[in-house]
This record gives sequence, structure tokens and C-alpha cells, in this order.
Amino acid sequence: MRPNIVFIMADDHAAHAVSAYGSRINHTPNIDRLAEEGMRLDNVFCTNSLCAPSRASIMTGTYNHVNGVQTLSTEYDARQPALPEMLRQSGYQTALVGKWHLGHGGIHDPRGFDHWTVLPDQGRYHNPVFLDMDGSQRTIPGYCTDIITDLSVDWLSSVDRDRPFFLMVHHKAPHRNWEPDAKHLDLFPDDLPVPETFFEEHEGRAARAAQMTVKHHLRMDDLKRILPPGLTEDEQALWKYQTYIKDYLRCVQSVDDNVGRLLDHLDDAGLSRDTIVVYTSDQGFFLGDHGWYDKRFMYEESLRMPFLIRYPREIAAGSANGDLIVNVDFAQTFLDFAGVAEHPRMQGRSFRTQLRGEAAEDWRTSVYYRYWEHDDGIHHVWAHYGVRTDRYKLMYYYADGLGLPGTSDRVFEPEWELFDLAEDPWELRNVHADPAYAEVRAALEAELARVQAEVGDKPVSSP
Ligand code: CA
Repeated sequence: MRPNIVFIMADDHAAHAVSAYGSRINHTPNIDRLAEEGMRLDNVFCTNSLCAPSRASIMTGTYNHVNGVQTLSTEYDARQPALPEMLRQSGYQTALVGKWHLGHGGIHDPRGFDHWTVLPDQGRYHNPVFLDMDGSQRTIPGYCTDIITDLSVDWLSSVDRDRPFFLMVHHKAPHRNWEPDAKHLDLFPDDLPVPETFFEEHEGRAARAAQMTVKHHLRMDDLKRILPPGLTEDEQALWKYQTYIKDYLRCVQSVDDNVGRLLDHLDDAGLSRDTIVVYTSDQGFFLGDHGWYDKRFMYEESLRMPFLIRYPREIAAGSANGDLIVNVDFAQTFLDFAGVAEHPRMQGRSFRTQLRGEAAEDWRTSVYYRYWEHDDGIHHVWAHYGVRTDRYKLMYYYADGLGLPGTSDRVFEPEWELFDLAEDPWELRNVHADPAYAEVRAALEAELARVQAEVGDKPVSSP
């Protein structure tokens, strides 16, 4: 019998705010259940740390230069070959509930689902509007994360138990502007630990251009509270950090509660043994790390995705794996479990072998990343691409929008960065010009060229 698949994806939930990954700032007992009863993947990375581009990669098993969603302003054509339609064609019952964020109307609406009900664009935390597949809209009173779970349970209760199903539960939380449910507002009465890199200065690095620091760039509607008078500049920055991180984690708490509700429903319905359950996020997030909120950069905190998976028939409880996996691999992995041949356009690889606890032969030793949304009008992160191995990361800021929608026409002098993650896990010391790393650098440059060509992307030459 083919497994059911429940794919739970949060929006901007960093792995370091999941206790199964060793969070120092919160506890997520329900999400952790998937690690305790299944496998924790420790090196899952997005290939472009932005909402829509990551979602397009997950749907299609392709990199953004192939699926056409390089930025938040390049719209997704939902007619392209994608996981939900392939599963449906093979006999799965398919549904999507929650955040879609790949455009609306005509060719942009969700496809391949027997049932969908989605938030328009980012959606609202309180009393959200939902768009339904018949073109109607409805406002549902309550809190978004609860409602997405209610609607998911409703659909699960309606499925034909003689056929497998595929359900995508896409939470809005904890995306900006981090509006918690009223019942969670009193959580975290005490101050939380501050990241080691919170007061990092970005001088001398391409990161200096970015405008997404907690200290300077959070807005009133993000903080939702009046800054107390009489604080020094650093005290103000710390007040903003505490305000931001607590609201973020309160939103996460509701996600965790609701993962628990969904797992309980699967238990009560007798479905847990035959159902693959995944918990992930569309990318990571800076939780004050390097002084930032948001994502975009190829640095570890935004590059890494949490990925926990449970399937009692095949995955050992309490297991873990550290292979280099990317979001482009997800579609082929689910197709593998479903016994459906992958589409020839797909660019990832099934990691079912690792999930079984076996070594995958000839597995990749590096991952390719590319952030295209150069110098957008808000965050001003420069376009870059790079390669990450188990120990090193080489990044090239080509700093050019190349005329893509959502980018500026300002072009900057390119810059390189190289980090030794074993010696410098916080990525504070660029060793690109360090003679001691000359051989490492040459090998990584060759690997970047190789992996870029392998995925069919092209280098950007310096102006
Ligand atoms: Ca996101």
C-alpha cells in the first residue's frame, strides 16, 4: 500500500527555533515528536532563501532559473510539471490548505489539487480571508494557524480511506509581522538569550548594504509597542530584539500546538502508521543573528531548513542524518515513496535511502545556492551565488539584478567571501584572501563552476 503524505510547512521558521535542533530560546514539544518518532535531517538547505522561490522549487523539483520564480516578483506558472498533479494522476487524493504565495488567477492559481483553500498573498493572522477553488472568498473568524489546522482536519475527515492522500498544510506563521494569538501573549515573561553575533558590524563585507537589522530597520507595525524612553542606542536595540523574538516565538508556539492537534487527529483516525508526516519551513531566518531579522543571505541561519519526517513503516524512531539535501529533492522523494516516476525535468534526488537509515552511494558533496532578488527596495541584499560543502562555503556577490522583476538597476563591484565553518561557525571571518586557504579556495571555485553547470545555471561575469 502506498503511504499517505502530510506535508506541514511553516513560513520563515528557522531550525534554531525548534527544540529538536537544540534551540536555546524555545520548546516545540509537538514538532519534536516527529524527531522522536522519526528522523531529524541536519543539513537540509534551500536553494534561494525567499518564500515564493523556495515554494516553486518544492512544487517542481527544480532550481529557480528553471521554474522561473527567481524573485518575489517573477510569477509562477502553475501549468509546469509539479508534484501535486503527478501524485493526483497516479491516484492520490490531493489538497492544499493555507499559504500559497505563488500568485493568483488563471495560470497562477494552485493546480493538481482536488481541493484547495488558500490565503490571498501573505494572508492575515487574525480573522483571515480564504480563497476557494470555486472562485469564492470567505472570512473565517479566529486565529490563522488554528484555522489552517481546522480546515486540514476537515479535509482529512472527508478522504476516501481506500486511496492514498497528499495534503499540504502551509502555515502563514511565523512570517512578519509576527502577530501572536491572544492566548500566547503572556509567554516568555523573562528576557531570552541574545545571539553571539547580535552586535556584529558589517563593515568591509557585502552584508553592509543590507537593511534588515533589528537595531535600525524593524518598523512600528513589526514591534507593535512603543519604545520606552531613556534607553541608550544598544539598550534600544536589545529591547527591539526581545520584542521581536518573543512575538516570533509566540507565533511559533501556536504552530507547535497545532502540529500536535494534527498528529493527534492522525492517531485518532488510525492513520499514523501509514502516513508520512513532514515538518519543514520554506527557508530559515535570522533570529537576531548577525543583528538581523529576515533571510535572503546564504549564511547558515537563513540557508538551513528544519526537516523532520516520520513514517513508522520505514523510518527508525529517533534517527538523524547529516547528508547535504536541498529543497529541490523533496518532490522526487515523495514521488519515490508513491511509486511514481520522476519528471525528466526534475533536478533533485530522492533521499529515501537515507530515510531508511542506509548510506546513499555517490551522494552530492556540495550544494548550490543563488539569491537573485538584487537590492530590492526594502532589504537591499545584493545578488549572490555560492557553494557549500560539509566544511566550507564560497560566496560570490555579483551584485547585479540582471533586469529581473523585483531587483534594482544599481550594480555594485563584485565581492567574494569564503568561510571555514569548522573554525568559524558564525561566519565572521572571511578567509577568501588568506594565503593559508589558497588551495581550498581554488578547489571551491572549481566546485562552484561544476555544480553551477550541473544544474544548468550560468556564471555572471564581472562588469
Ligand atoms: Ca518564507
